[in-house]
Amino acid sequence: MLHCPYCHGWEVRDQPVGILATGPLAVHQALMWRQWSDDVTLFLHTAPEPDDEEYEQLAARGVGVIDGEVAGLEVTGDRLTGVTLAGGRVIPCRALVVAPRFTARAGVLTGLGLHATPQEMAGQVVGSRIVSDPSGATEIPGVWVAGNVAELTETVIGSAAAGLRAAAAINADLIAEETRAAVAARRGISSPTDHDHGERDLAHRDLANHGHEHHEHADHGRSDHDHAHGRGTSMTDHSHETPSVEEFGSMEEFWDDRYGRSDRIWSGNPNVVLVREVTGTPPGRALDLGSGEGADAVWLARQGWRVTGTDISGVALGRAAEHAAAEGLADRIDWQRHDLGESFPEGTYDLVSAQFLHSYGEMPREKILRSAASAVAPGGVLLIVGHSGFPSWEENPHPDVHFPTPEEVLESLDLPDGKWEVQICEEHDRSQTSPDGRPGHRTDNTVKVRRLPE
Ligand SMILES: Cc1cc2nc3c(=O)[nH]c(=O)nc-3n(C[C@H](O)[C@H](O)[C@H](O)COP(=O)(O)OP(=O)(O)OC[C@H]3O[C@@H](n4cnc5c(N)ncnc54)[C@H](O)[C@@H]3O)c2cc1C
Repeated sequence: MLHCPYCHGWEVRDQPVGILATGPLAVHQALMWRQWSDDVTLFLHTAPEPDDEEYEQLAARGVGVIDGEVAGLEVTGDRLTGVTLAGGRVIPCRALVVAPRFTARAGVLTGLGLHATPQEMAGQVVGSRIVSDPSGATEIPGVWVAGNVAELTETVIGSAAAGLRAAAAINADLIAEETRAAVAARRGISSPTDHDHGERDLAHRDLANHGHEHHEHADHGRSDHDHAHGRGTSMTDHSHETPSVEEFGSMEEFWDDRYGRSDRIWSGNPNVVLVREVTGTPPGRALDLGSGEGADAVWLARQGWRVTGTDISGVALGRAAEHAAAEGLADRIDWQRHDLGESFPEGTYDLVSAQFLHSYGEMPREKILRSAASAVAPGGVLLIVGHSGFPSWEENPHPDVHFPTPEEVLESLDLPDGKWEVQICEEHDRSQTSPDGRPGHRTDNTVKVRRLPE
């Protein structure tokens, strides 16, 4: 039983070859195999009848056509010798060609949010694959595919070549990421470019009452460039030119200023835990708290969710709205400005997401997360992801700044007994690159709770 003349044609050259037709591509298969043997028989079996033009081509190439279903194979001494028709007639044959359905073994990618989609040829589904661009880039940032999982007609050498192309594209992506981080470090602002983590990467942290001392990274980036622009953007800069929360009339002004300092401060990638936990969930209404430049909200909208994105910064919301419009998703996302300690979006949601909702200044995080729980519709989910501590390269963390454990986050939600199911309450370590490009790690935590249906 063979499927590919390029793979197996030589071995059965000049021998009687049958084509077991099961779809409209069978005539094409017969003409391909005819190159290897002048004894080719097309068994129409369950396929549609060839049209007049195809019959003429088959006749011209001397391909025999046999009507009726194939009922079995005749095997003599462990070798195929014939094909048995439903009526009992046996047609001599040494190889039978089939049209298998090539199913991508993409299970390992499901957790990353990728799912195989059907691949068609001449209007017929011939298998499945992960959709990617010519470099192998998928719809999930940071994930490339190569070989048969991306293109089911690929062969060994083509798969290897695709692997090379993907490797070059990945390398280019890493170079760009490293360069962005280096430029950010040189300018002295936090780097938002780590693929491991998505949008909330390095910067937000709860420094309540420590707003005048945001030691974001090790001492890098106090460059002439910063001073030349007179902006004092270094987060490590202890001088008076570093803006602190106290220098602003409100947290809103602080964040607007922070977003206004560059065209983009986060990576543009959705947060990894959000992607992992939401993938496969039927879309409904989602609320994204602290939506920043909109990567999470846009990703959710792309998955079919109707999203409300909220942030304290109008600058961030404007940028997020542009991002959504550029993706053709403007009508799926409602952007609302809220200082969540003061006001909260109305309504209930099937998913409420709070990804790294930390702030430099005072922010009633526990109160906000309780409001978030109240906004979850019956059957819906609240997903909270936050930092558990400082990144490993922070040599002098503030001992008096407390990052809550997942258990403390859960407890602070004050969920009534018997009404919620705790699905995740855990810490997880992840690799992260420091702003100056050194490998490091950071511990985060995830709390996922589901409001039981009423
Ligand atoms: C019968 C047959 C004959 C062929 N003959 C030829 C030929 O003569 N010449 C030619 O050029 N091409 C031939 N091909 C096509 C060729 O084999 C493929 O194009 C090529 O192997 C694809 O390479 P790949 O790396 O994309 O996938 P594969 O070679 O299929 O490698 C994928 C690997 O991933 C493993 N894997 C999958 N999921 C997991 C997981 N969750 N965890 C760990 N491992 C996992 C699989 O076990 C497999 O080893 C043939 C194909 C078939 C089926």
